[in-house]
Amino acid sequence: MTSEIINSKDLPKVDPVFGQLSFDNHEQIVFCNDKDTGLKAIIGIHNTVLGPALGGTRMWQYNNEWEALNDVLRLSRGMTFKSAVAGLNLGGGKAVIIGNAKTQKTPELMKKFGEFVHSLSGKYITAEDVGMETSDMDLVRDVTPYVTGISESRGGAGNPSPITAYGVFMGMKAAAKQKYGSDVLEDKRVIVQGIGHVGESLVEHLTNEGAKVVIADINQERLEAVSKKYGATIFTGDNLYGLDADIYAPCALGATVNDATINQLKVDIIAGAANNQLANEVVHGNMLQEKGILYAPDFVVNAGGIINVYAELEGYGKTEIMRKTENIYNTTLEIFNLADSKGITTHAASLEVAKARIETRKKENQQ
Ligand code: NAD
Repeated sequence: MTSEIINSKDLPKVDPVFGQLSFDNHEQIVFCNDKDTGLKAIIGIHNTVLGPALGGTRMWQYNNEWEALNDVLRLSRGMTFKSAVAGLNLGGGKAVIIGNAKTQKTPELMKKFGEFVHSLSGKYITAEDVGMETSDMDLVRDVTPYVTGISESRGGAGNPSPITAYGVFMGMKAAAKQKYGSDVLEDKRVIVQGIGHVGESLVEHLTNEGAKVVIADINQERLEAVSKKYGATIFTGDNLYGLDADIYAPCALGATVNDATINQLKVDIIAGAANNQLANEVVHGNMLQEKGILYAPDFVVNAGGIINVYAELEGYGKTEIMRKTENIYNTTLEIFNLADSKGITTHAASLEVAKARIETRKKENQQ
């Protein structure tokens, strides 16, 4: 293919990066391409005021590059606020690799990606996300130290998902305390949508406490295995969102809380692991508030994973990981109280807490 100079009047009217709807003053966006391995990746560094931008790498078959860019912009921004609220000295970043993780992921591609991460000299530190395994991070570790989520045998903190699930469980309990006056989840009917790495572990905590758990997933084999193991009920209807239940835990994909689903939801509480649960943070945050559904903000309750990988950088052990993750209970309650006292949505309250911490640090750094 030859390159040609394009007349600017023929280009799309929206600026490709800085003009994106999801662009929120990101510091740096890095496009990575390698012909030999087929690597096409985008690294998004949203904010590094609190520390290096840490966030996982997602490998996904996006329909087009716009989708991939939009995803990395949204996800990296979310990481900034997640770490800020969790009290970690980390900024927000994320990476996406465009492609099918089952068929296109090779050791060569992962190492090449690691070289791009390395070229940023530690400004971005990677970890696992959807489509990635600990073994992939071990390959990245072969070429750069700027990676977490590596295997325990290589000094890593191990699989973050059970820790994430425990944090979500803590956040859900805080929401129950706020809504019902008690954080006991016994006999509460909880819908867990997505019973993957995090979802299954959440089902375990919930069933141990005596909650009545309904599980939904697109993977029938997993549904049967998890149902058998924990005695959870498999959802068989055709409208999960309209189910009579107390709590909805989105643990699969983002944007499941939207115009269509909010109108159907009968639950009192939403608390789950998925990132970017609200399709539109402002519109859907407000709709939930008006409907009286208490939303435990996703980036507050799903911080267990980042707390776990942060341990690899700071050198703290399991006891401190669990203490920090358990504290999600208190943080969530503080955010509910702030939202109540200011009459704002819980999502807005959590953003306020995060932004205040970043602003304070920015001022300290300038002194
Ligand atoms: P996973 O890939 O192990 O599990 C996702 C599950 O959702 C799979 O079982 C999949 O079959 C199911 N699923 C996909 N589409 C679905 C649909 N339309 N309806 C129902 N089920 C569907 O992922 P995970 O590691 O368990 O993470 C779950 C979510 O939590 C993701 O959004 C992830 O970004 C977020 N998260 C994970 C961690 C972590 O530590 N793993 C940390 C923070 C946030």
